[in-house]
Amino acid sequence: MTVPITTLQGIGERVAEQLARLKIETVEDMLFHLPLRYEDRTQIKPLTQLKVGDNVLIEGTIQATEVKITRKRSLVCMLTEGAGNVMLRFFHFYPSLREKLKPGIRLRCFGEVRQGYHCLELVHPQYECIDYSNSTALLEEHLTPIYPSTSHLNQSLFHSLIAQIFEKQEIIDYFPDTIRNQFNLLPLIEALHTLHHPSPSVSLKALQAGKHPAHRRLAFEELLAHHLSLYALRARNRNRNAPCLINDGQLTQALVTQLPFKLTTAQQKVTAEIAADLRTEHPMQRLLQGDVGSGKTIVAAISALQAIESGYQVAVMAPTELLSEQHKRTFSQWLEPLQIELTWLTSSLTKKKREQAIEKLASGQASLAIGTHALFQKGVEFAKLGLVIVDEQHRFGVHQRLALRNKGNQDGSYPHQLIMTATPIPRTLAMTTYADLETSIIDELPPGRTPVTTVIIPNTRRDEIVARINHVCQNEGRQAYWVCTLIKESEILQFQAAEETAEQLRKALPDLQIGLVHGRIKSKEKEEVMEKFKTKQLDLLVATTVIEVGVDVPNASLMIIENAERLGLAQLHQLRGRVGRGALQSYCVLLYQPPLSQIAQSRLATIRDTHDGFAIAKRDLDIRGPGEVLGTRQKGVLNLKVADLQRDKDLLDDIVAAGKILFEDYPEQCKLLVRRWAKEGLHYGEV
Ligand code: ADP
Ligand code: MG
Repeated sequence: MTVPITTLQGIGERVAEQLARLKIETVEDMLFHLPLRYEDRTQIKPLTQLKVGDNVLIEGTIQATEVKITRKRSLVCMLTEGAGNVMLRFFHFYPSLREKLKPGIRLRCFGEVRQGYHCLELVHPQYECIDYSNSTALLEEHLTPIYPSTSHLNQSLFHSLIAQIFEKQEIIDYFPDTIRNQFNLLPLIEALHTLHHPSPSVSLKALQAGKHPAHRRLAFEELLAHHLSLYALRARNRNRNAPCLINDGQLTQALVTQLPFKLTTAQQKVTAEIAADLRTEHPMQRLLQGDVGSGKTIVAAISALQAIESGYQVAVMAPTELLSEQHKRTFSQWLEPLQIELTWLTSSLTKKKREQAIEKLASGQASLAIGTHALFQKGVEFAKLGLVIVDEQHRFGVHQRLALRNKGNQDGSYPHQLIMTATPIPRTLAMTTYADLETSIIDELPPGRTPVTTVIIPNTRRDEIVARINHVCQNEGRQAYWVCTLIKESEILQFQAAEETAEQLRKALPDLQIGLVHGRIKSKEKEEVMEKFKTKQLDLLVATTVIEVGVDVPNASLMIIENAERLGLAQLHQLRGRVGRGALQSYCVLLYQPPLSQIAQSRLATIRDTHDGFAIAKRDLDIRGPGEVLGTRQKGVLNLKVADLQRDKDLLDDIVAAGKILFEDYPEQCKLLVRRWAKEGLHYGEV
């Protein structure tokens, strides 16, 4: 099955290149390159039975042909057969076409039926003239598959390749009979036959919707393969060594007693789950999910102390510099009283500072490292790394996760990993992309929070909002965020927009202290601005979406988000999570550029009416599908050929059950399945 596609007939270099663009390189790739849709050319539809929207094969005799000039010039033919008739219309035609399609000619046409001005029409149908002597021109025996293609390849090539494969190649079904029977799945060959050569009796509707048992069989196999690849990864992990972090927990105790609040029950529960993992001799791989503001950071700090008390180092990695700076501040505040040395490492450090930080990590002088990706770049070595904490995980994929783990490998001992996210992972992704992780969930917010009141307001009422900011900051002593989002996906424009907005607001609000942060501002300056905002020297912070994750300033109670309709729901929820961190009532204003489409309206209403991140993520998933929600941001997300995580999610329970059986009883088939569908999954096993 890994036979190169070029061994089939009819493939020259150019064609091979085009196929490669469609990711078709082997015979197997071609087999799983499924049709986009199907056409029914197996029977001729009587003209009296045509329905608008149908794609039909018809036959008839031309009654009249003329060039009409209404709004646009077109050639029209009236085609009749028995009591029925239909108009054929061509907008682009050579004069010779009028000659060719003259009255009395018999035609066979294929096209979509539309409602014309006078009667039903086929616009630019495919047609062929039929000779009376040859009136039994052959009909197709199967529905005609139409394959996804490039503009240089025509459909007949795919038909020929598939025919050759069915004729000459062996197609192996890796599912043992027991699995097929238990889960009621079609044999592979039958499924492939149905999809590539469907017989006219197959429901076109089910085929087009991807709901036919043939699709289901393939989707099942594909999702199962991805699941198995991670399952294998998890199993391998259990054979790896990690430091046992066992101690009396004095440091943890000291931290907890010094906190100004009491841990919530949920925080205590997840802290215990993590602590138990850290005590084992295998590397923890745990995902900590908790809504925005649920208090994940303190859980991370407690876990860090467990490692530090055992004499190991901990690395805390954040997705943005801004967030890493904040963590630096938070952790210093908690850990410095305990005499724990902390160092900060990002790519924006000066050479000298960077060298100092690296030295402290290599010598083991610093027990805790906080930073961005820079923590794991070349030249950074840890003396004794025991735990890696990754915050806001949705920005890191499986590959990065593994690279991180390998980086910490010392003499066959791997660090534990804790991955924290506020973006709930839908179950579909959880079991395919994250099946290698255990999960802990913080399912309650700290007490005393008042839900943020959210309003949706058109940009035309900007002045009112500006007045409101003035009131909130001047009279109530609170602080506010103004978030600029980009009009286009251009970073430069985004910076400019933020700078201009800050300028305008400074003019409009002369009595307020206004700061600005965006990705182009130097790290040191950014840190100063954030520090000033935190210590209330600034009233209003104008920012790009860099503040999306994690920033924590409880006194800020008003947030304005510009062009809110352009952001994803999860992102809006994250942003809004920057306010409502204290007990006082907070507000979030979603400014939009009118007019607002129906969908945009309903999305913004979802944010306004819902405060639960999990519910919002679910709604986002319904609207956009899982690929969009996590995919665009995340490398290493599945590249599915057949399955659709939304459409096929009802298969998941069976897939988990089948995965268990295959994994335990059919190791050889597992490998083959992973190789067939999740090639990159193979590497997971090796690293
Ligand atoms: P997130 O889960 O979004 O990362 P943080 O860890 O930033 O949330 O916590 C949000 C805020 O809640 C912080 O100011 C933190 O100090 C505070 N906090 C955390 N746990 C509790 C608790 N149990 N009771 C009260 N406040 C808490
Ligand atoms: Mg956080």
